[in-house]
Amino acid sequence: MLTRVQRPFAVLTLAAAALAASSTQQADPNRYVNDVKELASPEMEGRGAGTKGLTRAEHLLEKRYKELHLDPAGVNGYEQPFRVITGARLKSDNAFSVMAPSGKRELKVHEDFVPFSFSSSSRVSAPIVFAGYGATADEFHYDDYAGLDVKGKIVLVLRYEPAGFSGKNAHHELTQHSQLITKAINARNHGAKALIVANGKLNEGEEDLLTRFGSVSGPENVGIVMVQVKNAVVDAWFQAAGKSLKEVQEQINASTNPASFAFPDSLPVSLNVDIETTRATVDNVLAWLPGQTDEYLIIGAHYDHLGRGNVDSLAPSQIGQVHPGADDNASGTAGVLELARLLAPERGKLKRSVLFMDFAGEELGLLGSAEWVKQPTRPLDKAVAMINMDMIGRIKDDKVYIGGVGTGSTFKSVLDQAEKEAPFKFEASPGGYSSSDHTSFVAKKIPVLFFFSGLHSDYHKPSDTWDKINGPSAARLLDMIENVAVQLANTDQPPTFQVVAEEKPLGGISGGGGYGPYFGSVPDFGQVENGVKFSEVRPNSPAAKAGFKAGDILVQFGDKPIKNLYDFTDALRRSKVGDVVEVKVLRDGQPLTASVKLEQRK
Ligand SMILES: [Zn+2]
Repeated sequence: MLTRVQRPFAVLTLAAAALAASSTQQADPNRYVNDVKELASPEMEGRGAGTKGLTRAEHLLEKRYKELHLDPAGVNGYEQPFRVITGARLKSDNAFSVMAPSGKRELKVHEDFVPFSFSSSSRVSAPIVFAGYGATADEFHYDDYAGLDVKGKIVLVLRYEPAGFSGKNAHHELTQHSQLITKAINARNHGAKALIVANGKLNEGEEDLLTRFGSVSGPENVGIVMVQVKNAVVDAWFQAAGKSLKEVQEQINASTNPASFAFPDSLPVSLNVDIETTRATVDNVLAWLPGQTDEYLIIGAHYDHLGRGNVDSLAPSQIGQVHPGADDNASGTAGVLELARLLAPERGKLKRSVLFMDFAGEELGLLGSAEWVKQPTRPLDKAVAMINMDMIGRIKDDKVYIGGVGTGSTFKSVLDQAEKEAPFKFEASPGGYSSSDHTSFVAKKIPVLFFFSGLHSDYHKPSDTWDKINGPSAARLLDMIENVAVQLANTDQPPTFQVVAEEKPLGGISGGGGYGPYFGSVPDFGQVENGVKFSEVRPNSPAAKAGFKAGDILVQFGDKPIKNLYDFTDALRRSKVGDVVEVKVLRDGQPLTASVKLEQRK
């Protein structure tokens, strides 16, 4: 499951009623847990994209499908290969030289300047133009590029945006014009060759830090050379032009009027950015159980995970250790295998065929499922429904979440039937969009059902291990899903796709500068009624300095009540480095308040 787009489940309790017949075959909890254990073993290296471990997991899946005599349904046998980006790195030839009146100066990478990972790789030599905050904001009748010729030039801009922008909206939050990607696109659209960003005015106690390479997410290539330079470098340029950076910035903020200008032609800059994008080929694994028609049901789960931890790890201090991903999502992958075993004897007997899918690239952004719907290996219009399992191994108190219930016309009655002997407390939500692979299918108007046992404290951490898997409950859930699958495979009346009015997806924190200042807590994804529980408080962080500890539940941040992680993220984004915020937590049920001084992210 992806970290970024967690969506709360709208609760809608399904009716569960009397008894019904079950199939003769039943899921085997020991066999199931053994599969989870094998998929989450150290040799699988956390099944990260580009690792041998992911390939080993893939070969395990193929071997099982072969043993079950399922037909290959990929491009090369069971495999559907596709390329993914696993990261970016700076190559040796990143250079920045300035021809100043005092002579040529070579800036040092990581000390004076740093490229952004989404910069184009190119060499640019051109004059510099200052374009304020780099904003073209029609809604504020403000344009840093008005009357400015930046074609073929290098544009220098400040981070954030004119103070007046946020003053004009109700919540005093930074607008999209403060986003680095917005600035990059605007500069590129005005014909600039390169964009330099400087921090400019610092908040109290803030250092002029360079962004760590790769720490700001963005597209693979934003289409313009883009670097950050330190204020000291820029100060010298302003002085050479007879100006002061500080004064110019203050003037823009006070008036909300642009103060753009071209630096003297005697100040050309030569800039070379040299970035290598690292890629890997990964495979979806696809197996086919023929039925009596070419219509088919899809049963899927992603088998990739975070490898040794990446930007999505929720145990940042343990990046480098294998993140075994037993629940996320060896549990769903083993579920697909178990269902394949249960259904394989039905070869040729079910009315419809069944396509078993194991996706790669999920943790990088649902890439495997996106690839399959883009290049389907069976006709998309013959797919009657898609069942996705992502994190089904940690059923607690018999609670199971089902998503997508509103996307298929017959799902309600199919589930009612299947639940008759399933001793679970189901919570269903009608919508089919969330942070796992079924989202790719609902986008293609295929009805989806998503099974999920809930978030927990080990989510996206090295502690998501096989021994914490609840085998007996998962096996009972798989029996219930098998019942759903058989009904969907055999019914005369397949579900028709229904559009569910979705809550708007959470606004993407695209582009960076968007996370707000540094607080220092790591959220616990275990269930909390109201608030955000801390699983970790980083040493020396603002939260630690204020005395907060792991286990505290954040309920109030300044004047904002905090009910969930979205509230917290939003409140943090509306804050600035240096702000002192009254923060209220519950510790052992007792309220506790302390002032936290927010710091800069490093
Ligand atoms: Zn995940």
